[in-house]
Amino acid sequence: MPQHVPTDLPDHLQHFIGGEFVDSLDGTTFEVLDPVTNQAYTTAAAGKNDDVDRAVTAAAEAFHAGPWPQLLPRQRARILHAIADIVESRDRRLAELETFDTGLPITQALGQAQRAAENFRFFADLIVAQRDDAYKVPGRQLNYVNRKPKGVAGLITPWNTPFMLESWKLAPALASGCTVVLKPAEFTPLSASLWPDIFREAGVPDGVFNLVNGLGEEAGDALVKHPGVPLISFTGESSTGQLIFANAAPHLKGLSMELGGKSPAVVFADADLDEAIDATVFGVFSLNGERCTAGSRILVEQAVYDEFVERYAARARAIVVGDPHDPATEVGALVHPEHFAKVMSYVEIGKGEGRLVAGGGRPEGLETGNYVAPTVFVDVKPDARIFQEEIFGPVVAISPFDTEEEALALANGVKYGLAAYVWTNDLRRAHTFAQSIDAGMVWLNSNNVRDLRTPFGGVKASGLGHEGGYRSIDFYTDQQAVHTTLGEAHTPRFGVR
Ligand code: NAD
Repeated sequence: MPQHVPTDLPDHLQHFIGGEFVDSLDGTTFEVLDPVTNQAYTTAAAGKNDDVDRAVTAAAEAFHAGPWPQLLPRQRARILHAIADIVESRDRRLAELETFDTGLPITQALGQAQRAAENFRFFADLIVAQRDDAYKVPGRQLNYVNRKPKGVAGLITPWNTPFMLESWKLAPALASGCTVVLKPAEFTPLSASLWPDIFREAGVPDGVFNLVNGLGEEAGDALVKHPGVPLISFTGESSTGQLIFANAAPHLKGLSMELGGKSPAVVFADADLDEAIDATVFGVFSLNGERCTAGSRILVEQAVYDEFVERYAARARAIVVGDPHDPATEVGALVHPEHFAKVMSYVEIGKGEGRLVAGGGRPEGLETGNYVAPTVFVDVKPDARIFQEEIFGPVVAISPFDTEEEALALANGVKYGLAAYVWTNDLRRAHTFAQSIDAGMVWLNSNNVRDLRTPFGGVKASGLGHEGGYRSIDFYTDQQAVHTTLGEAHTPRFGVR
């Protein structure tokens, strides 16, 4: 298949430390692959302890020397809005590079670029509107909250929708007055290399934003263990989250973790089936199925199970898989051959665990590149690996249920608890179900839309803490309580005889 290759691809990606592009001190690099050809198209500097230390030192200097943490909220907000303007004005170029690096369909990558701009606008406005508590007892005391940025924030991000997920951490961290060291995912460092110019043009002072490329077990690990970084915001796999939790423990670091998922979509017989099918097809196969909130287990009430399965499989078979740069493409190439191999191994496991009704391997005519046909397994038992484990690709498990209790037990019967989707026209059932389900986020007759003021995060193995709205600002700031006496101190006088 002829491939669209963006012009001006960089032949090497460097770190960005203290306002300068630099290579690793030991000169080492790693290769970055194009997911359509699996050929290396560039190299990136491989950061190690010393490089991370340089970046943390630069960020700490920028934090202590200022002016970033001392700027008025509206001054930082103005710069954040300028960042959003620049991202918006370059959304097509950004999407083109993101598509090239990740294999994400171009129309969806464009939406993610626009969402990145929206994240900056949202936190710019929020920091200006921020109100902290003050308590006053007239004539006696005044208590107020002194909110202070925590210092150098370590941001570690995954390869799915990388630019957008980086913005989800960068925007609140910078809005709060922190300086940052970003460690993007090694599979997809291309779009992160655009941040330095965007920030510089928007007026972010040198040293406030630092970028270290590298492998997770080297650069990521060094950032987590660095004593100069008091907080880490991490998005990635639950197993990596466990490791980071352990490595951050000796320093008692602040941690925010957005981790894996195996989210249920529960379809009751009284649901609007057309809407439920639209949403559950989109919920699994959009973003190539490489979506943390994918509703990758669909539980369907027995009375509509056969109809649902038949219609769902037909829709999955009709999905357009192919060149991610083609605007007609709905599922592109998976990010990396290693991830492709993992997803394909689950497809093979699934063949022994469920009944295959769509997909099951490479799509016809796409013999190279990381393409997986949208794959649907039905009649999947709850102890199956494809029911329990996160696959993170275009693969779904569908299972029937008879009663509301059974549906709840199935929904909650995995280690994850990120999102849940419920389709029913029974209002009481929708809300009681939402209250009993182990999920940080529940969508009722709704498809993954959310207001950025709401909390985002998971329970059980899906995360620790919530970001979104003021919760993000709370994470990146310390809230110091200041107490003062008005008038006399009224202190009991010990030792007065
Ligand atoms: P990953 O855990 O392999 O890597 C994520 C990041 O952590 C990368 O930058 C990696 O280099 C780094 N890393 C790896 N080992 C490390 C270590 N020992 N110390 C420090 N950093 C380390 O995850 P991934 O494969 O890039 O991303 C996919 C995963 O992310 C899926 O599980 C998905 O569900 C999850 N995810 C969750 C959310 C959410 O909001 N809950 C959003 C997107 C993705």
